[in-house]
Amino acid sequence: MSDSPQIAPLLFAWYGRVGRDLPWRHTRAPYRIWLSEIMLQQTTVTAVIPYYQCFLARFPDIGVLAAAAAEEVVEAWAGLGYYSRARNLHAAARQVMELHNGCFPETLEELITLPGIGRSTAGAILAIAHQERGVILDGNVRRVLVRLFALEGDPRSSAAEKQLWLWAESLTPAERADDYAQAIMDLGATCCTPTKPNCPECPLAVHCQAFTQGRQDELPQARAAKAVPTVQQVGLLLADKRGRLLVRRRPMNGLLGGLWEFPTREVLPGATPEASARLLLQELGGSGSVEEAGKVAHAYSHFKLDLRFYRGKAGTAGYVGEGEHDWLTAAALRELALHGAHKKALKFI
Ligand code: SF4
Repeated sequence: MSDSPQIAPLLFAWYGRVGRDLPWRHTRAPYRIWLSEIMLQQTTVTAVIPYYQCFLARFPDIGVLAAAAAEEVVEAWAGLGYYSRARNLHAAARQVMELHNGCFPETLEELITLPGIGRSTAGAILAIAHQERGVILDGNVRRVLVRLFALEGDPRSSAAEKQLWLWAESLTPAERADDYAQAIMDLGATCCTPTKPNCPECPLAVHCQAFTQGRQDELPQARAAKAVPTVQQVGLLLADKRGRLLVRRRPMNGLLGGLWEFPTREVLPGATPEASARLLLQELGGSGSVEEAGKVAHAYSHFKLDLRFYRGKAGTAGYVGEGEHDWLTAAALRELALHGAHKKALKFI
């Protein structure tokens, strides 16, 4: 679009001065760029860096990743959240090995056929790894563009999505699309931040309609908050004679698939949490009473979890449930890939 401001030269100059030195900026390897882009979806740079380094130490290339068990990949992801990313990463690695002889695709059309790779991630891989004119529109870029053009309304609506992609396409330069992608992502992360954007230091201030109108704190407009249900559960710290606790692995094909947890069940309608915990104890072959250990609150994207933990003693028959399980000491539990809510329960041990 001819009426789009020429922001690339301004961004290049700014990026040259204050761009961040990040581990994945020392490579062009598609595998590493892809990994960083997936990890950075919904997760901050600070949280990603140690995971990125540990993941690469464990799975140094796409062949090793593809050959690993899915459970192993999810375990390496434990604590990073949004675990479908790990499962998709693994599935995509296998697809690249099987369909592309281990070479990362170099076209947008092929990239977006890989699990977990959308249009923006594909654009980032094209731009940064392959130095093609890849176009990106991640959360940071979206915020910058909404403010730059003072876009009204819900920025996630389909009309806004279409408009934002048009702007993203028109602003991306033919040359140095890699620097442009990294610069505009950095700008959103460090300068055009969700709250209190640093407009006086922004290289785009001269073109920014939100800043000109003094509306940088109002945009993007907040979406109407959806009511988030709260799920009530009980968890059991079930100890055997040696004091080891029972943990089970969640099925791979569901929420938090492949991660470990203490046994849980939902609180029965009309029953107290303690009665529900006693029932859980019986279901697991234990007997006797349960003793409350403490409460954990955890938030997921679609619901909140209110989880009360109880202590109980295992029956003589040991474990009577299905699926992969283990009896572990407190020290081993601290090393285990427990998911977030259950990691919080370690303080009760
Ligand atoms: S001037 Fe302010 S609101 Fe506009 S892009 Fe820069 S930091 Fe964001």
